[in-house]
Amino acid sequence: MGICPYCKQYIDLNTIVIEKKGKGIVDQDRIYICPCCDYVLGFSYAMR
Ligand SMILES: [Zn+2]
Repeated sequence: MGICPYCKQYIDLNTIVIEKKGKGIVDQDRIYICPCCDYVLGFSYAMR
């Protein structure tokens, strides 16, 4: 997936921490967190 800009550790979808904060089925955003330093890498909105 990429390299964490904070701790420079290589991370991919198998090691990354994904937190889902959903208010419902439609509104669900995912927060990607580095497993090494807990740096928040970004957000993505699932529009289904
Ligand atoms: Zn990191």
